[in-house]
Amino acid sequence: MTVDQLEPALAAHYEPLINGEFRSISTETFPAVDAATGARLATITRGGAADVDAAVAAARAAFPKWAATRPEERSLLLHRLADWIEANAERLAAIDTMDIGRTIFETPLDHRIAVGQYRFFASAAVTHDGWNHPVAGGWAIAKREPIGVVGQIIPWNVPAIMTAFKLAPALAAGNTVVLKPDENASLSTLELCTKLAELFPPGVVNVVPGFGDEAGAALTAHPDVDKLAFTGSAEVGRLVAHAGAERLVPVSLELGGKSPNIVFPDIEDLDRVIDNATFAATYCNGQSCLAGTRLFVHDDLYDDFLGKLSASFQGVRVGSPLDPATRLGCLVSEKQGRRVLDYIASGRSDSSLVTGGGRAAVSGSEHGWFIEPTVFETENSSRIAQEEIFGPVLSVIRWKDYDALIDQANDVEYGLAAGVYTTNLKNAMRTADRLHAGSVWVNQYFNLVDGSPFGGYKGSGLGREYCKETLDMYTQLKSIVLAEELPPPLFG
Ligand code: NAD
Repeated sequence: MTVDQLEPALAAHYEPLINGEFRSISTETFPAVDAATGARLATITRGGAADVDAAVAAARAAFPKWAATRPEERSLLLHRLADWIEANAERLAAIDTMDIGRTIFETPLDHRIAVGQYRFFASAAVTHDGWNHPVAGGWAIAKREPIGVVGQIIPWNVPAIMTAFKLAPALAAGNTVVLKPDENASLSTLELCTKLAELFPPGVVNVVPGFGDEAGAALTAHPDVDKLAFTGSAEVGRLVAHAGAERLVPVSLELGGKSPNIVFPDIEDLDRVIDNATFAATYCNGQSCLAGTRLFVHDDLYDDFLGKLSASFQGVRVGSPLDPATRLGCLVSEKQGRRVLDYIASGRSDSSLVTGGGRAAVSGSEHGWFIEPTVFETENSSRIAQEEIFGPVLSVIRWKDYDALIDQANDVEYGLAAGVYTTNLKNAMRTADRLHAGSVWVNQYFNLVDGSPFGGYKGSGLGREYCKETLDMYTQLKSIVLAEELPPPLFG
């Protein structure tokens, strides 16, 4: 699909969704640009503090009625939203591909994951119970109640998944929402708004596009928001946590990662491990918080492994994101491209470049920041092994001693995910136990399962998404104790 084919299906301009209407107070706009070609796709209202105010007021007004709806009603609406995404997934995926430069091979999966999230929380909503317990002469009940107005801020790398991760549990639990998408990747979320406006009562879901230090900061600091949920960088995550602390409102955070991916010497199928480790580092053009970017390879097979890994990276086809044969598209922006090249320069200074290491040119997509799939041999202490790069750059580290391996794997500020390749059950279980990571995948990286808790240890965040416990984060418990009789008098 090309921009021309899509043009009639994209609006020329997108407004915020506030109180069921597409309107804005801000008169400023910003462009949505094709990441590969630089073509202007649409303009978007640059929401500001006044738009956030209006959206929060609408969400506040809608809250009592929405909180009182039966979970079955909320569930039905989430299923209808999922139906619409399924019916429009191809088009939404093409929009994401142009908006952010990720390949058309990958982006349909984002929408399948999003559908899974809306359906999962549609089901979980109707079974998310509190607690009750008979006590002598009565009952003790703990009732789950929605928290109120939730402010949500998401990044650009997987916009459909991030939107679903935030909206599905918050709405299922009976909260009302103000969501701010990322300024680099708003289009598919704004397209979704057409269906959100049709399905949900006015004010239940509000979406204010705009910049982080404007709409984002206004939402974070807003005095009438009851909970904040953020996905993005650790730097901004800290600002959001501070804002939550100022007003004593709960905050959930999904932040960065620098995940270890560990190869034991007992693996049987070297080629398939290499294929999966390549995928772990290059999926999403490497712009995934989950990416397996530190590959620990055992000394016994290291040299053979590295040679084949280099060939595997060279085989990753870089090209136009809209070409179905492409496996690596372009980074989201020039800023991201320059950041990744800066890390590559740092790697050249203290590590050994195995393959890649430069910007790639793609005919017809000259605007795009395509980065060659890159492998370095390095130490765990190097800058490229310690910091999140968010590009297709893999650090390979040799290991011999098991305890030293575990120490190194855990020796980063993050703890989001980890991979282990082994045919030995004891290696798998013992290593999974000892890694400081929210998700550990044995023998298949990125093995995401609906309902399996997703979130980080250490600097990777606070809270868990993707699972029924997420509904706990979007509700609070109220204890009610019922006594059949008044107590016997105490005072005469
Ligand atoms: P970012 O933190 O700069 O931006 C994320 C969002 O925060 C955007 O919507 C942005 O507009 C907003 N924002 C920026 N400054 C703000 C401020 N002062 N106040 C309020 N909001 C503000 O991150 P990014 O560069 O867009 O995304 C990349 C980062 O996100 C990476 O570190 C990556 O690991 C992380 N990430 C984590 C997950 C996860 O689930 N753990 C998923 C995707 C991305």
